[in-house]
Amino acid sequence: MKFATTTLLFAPLLVAADSAYEDLRLARHAKIARQAPTPASAPPPSPPATTTPPVVAIPPPPAVSLLSTNPTAVPLTQIVAGQPSPATIPLATTYTAGTVPSGLPEAPGLPSLSSIVPSNYPPLDKLPPTDSPQVKAWIAEVAASGIQIPNILPTLPGGCGTNAQAASNTTNCWWTCGGCTREDDITSCPDKMTWGLTYDDGPAFYTPNLLQYLAEQKIKSTFFTVGSRVISAPATLQAMHVEGHQISVHTWAHPPLTTLTNDEIIAELGWSRKAIKDVLGVTPNTFRPPYGDIDDRVRAIAKAMGMVPVLWTRIGPYATFDTDDFNINGGITTVQQVLVNWKNILGNATSMNTGFIVLEHDLFPQAVEAATGYILPDAIAHQPPFKIEPVITCLNKPLRDAYVETNDNKTNPPVASGGFFLSSRVSAGIIYLAVYFCSTS
Ligand SMILES: [Zn+2]
Repeated sequence: MKFATTTLLFAPLLVAADSAYEDLRLARHAKIARQAPTPASAPPPSPPATTTPPVVAIPPPPAVSLLSTNPTAVPLTQIVAGQPSPATIPLATTYTAGTVPSGLPEAPGLPSLSSIVPSNYPPLDKLPPTDSPQVKAWIAEVAASGIQIPNILPTLPGGCGTNAQAASNTTNCWWTCGGCTREDDITSCPDKMTWGLTYDDGPAFYTPNLLQYLAEQKIKSTFFTVGSRVISAPATLQAMHVEGHQISVHTWAHPPLTTLTNDEIIAELGWSRKAIKDVLGVTPNTFRPPYGDIDDRVRAIAKAMGMVPVLWTRIGPYATFDTDDFNINGGITTVQQVLVNWKNILGNATSMNTGFIVLEHDLFPQAVEAATGYILPDAIAHQPPFKIEPVITCLNKPLRDAYVETNDNKTNPPVASGGFFLSSRVSAGIIYLAVYFCSTS
């Protein structure tokens, strides 16, 4: 199936796609996410002319009316696939070793970046080997946890469409195919009009642009960071941390976790967790599975490693709060469609009795430009106002609860000890039914 055949439907629907489209997007995302980033000094290469996809007739989305936009926003007509590489903003501050975040006085001081040597880590954007001493130690950690890992076979690449049997087996609780969740899964915020703000796949070249806007607006976010990016941009990760944002695990090389063996899942989570600990001095106790690809086997392994899954809000079997901003860069969607998705999310979110979590990204410039130019200004101008904050505080827990070293284990007992991370877990409830989404986490 070509992208041209995908039908996009509008309000009250969110991101719409059929399962074949989902498979294409999963594959495309996996390919993009595993590529090493382009150096900041060079624009991303344009695809060779011979690979230019055929011109397709995508119906234009309806005009979107926003309450406010950023006066310095990049014009929508310029936020396109293959756009010239825009200017990056240098980090406002490069923090020195020993700096303690003012909003997290319990945290240890920042480690020295001279201690971050890429050769001490697995190759970037590749599955880490499972026979290294580090991974063997984490495998032993899981075995010693006492948590039973369900005997669920890895899925085949391609999602629900290529795994019909697993997709229909509800006992595995595979979120990707139908939205099954378990008690510990975090999918929304308990309080109405509260937005647990999240950005995935960084830290990347345009993350400082996003950090600057968030600082101007005094907004904190949760960043689900990829270990390979952490090692590539450790100063940016330190800036996120010192400036009060929550840092969480998003694997080392961004694979769909249900496709991996137990040891491979352990290696992915372990190396990402270690990279963050080495750069920040703190160890996250939450993670987001790439593509939201989680079942009970992945949940159990993560729990044995002390990590709670954070997904994003789903309002029906086939609709989630996914802006689809990731796919502007690849030409799979447009910024105009992303804003339609955003307004549909907003319409649903304001009708809910709980808060919500939305999927957004900071890997590519188009997504950052959409966020800082349009989505965030629109959200900030909303009346009644949203409370926009990191996931951990939207759960009415202090930021210190987000890390092993700073959690006092009182309000947030470690999940591996049998304590529930979230006593106030909520269900988004079904508001509108939509056709099948594609998560690009
Ligand atoms: Zn991701």
